[in-house]
Amino acid sequence: MLTKKQLAIQLSKLLVFANPKLELEQYPTNSEAAATVLWDAYMKGDIANKTIADLGAGTGILGVGALLLGAKFVYFVEKDFEAVRILQQNLITLRNKNYTVLQMQVTDFYQNVDTIIQNPPFGTKQEHADKPFLEKAFSVASVVYSFHKTSTELFVRAIAADHLFTVVETYSFSFPLRQTYSYHKKKIEKIEVTCFRILKH
Ligand code: SAH
Repeated sequence: MLTKKQLAIQLSKLLVFANPKLELEQYPTNSEAAATVLWDAYMKGDIANKTIADLGAGTGILGVGALLLGAKFVYFVEKDFEAVRILQQNLITLRNKNYTVLQMQVTDFYQNVDTIIQNPPFGTKQEHADKPFLEKAFSVASVVYSFHKTSTELFVRAIAADHLFTVVETYSFSFPLRQTYSYHKKKIEKIEVTCFRILKH
């Protein structure tokens, strides 16, 4: 079995978006944040031998981490063909082959799972672009890990309550936004991000 450090190293080797699409808010979870959340989820019993969905999987860091930590099965759901191509490359070398890649809209996913681990669009381009991801998560799972802009915390808590879910833990990070998007003027811009662990009542 992996250690947390080994997990972080493995995740740091994955390919990321080649040509990130602004309108889809394609930026990957950094490997340290992914390893922190995945390791804690693993320790809480939310990963090993569980069925997991990674909604808006992008290049797959969250779902790949779940597979490395012994997930029973992982559904990767991603609508963008180019992201899916990179995701497929990230999956090639994995020994745990218990996964499927679904190139589709998150709203078209109807499989019940044990755990959702997702880093959806934050809604910086389109307000509340993360709402359909949370709604889908609450309708197919009872344990949800979801990354959002920290400034939207009240929105996340409210929509969880509407669906009879409660935020039970938060993990805070400062994500470096890489210079892939030209409208970020400063050299190293940071964005405050929180991963919420949300459970059904
Ligand atoms: N979860 C990945 C990617 C985060 S970026 C990671 O943690 O690294 C958000 C991803 O959501 C992008 O890959 C984008 O293409 C995808 N996405 C955006 N809207 C979507 C939708 N409606 N259905 C499915 N995927 C979507």
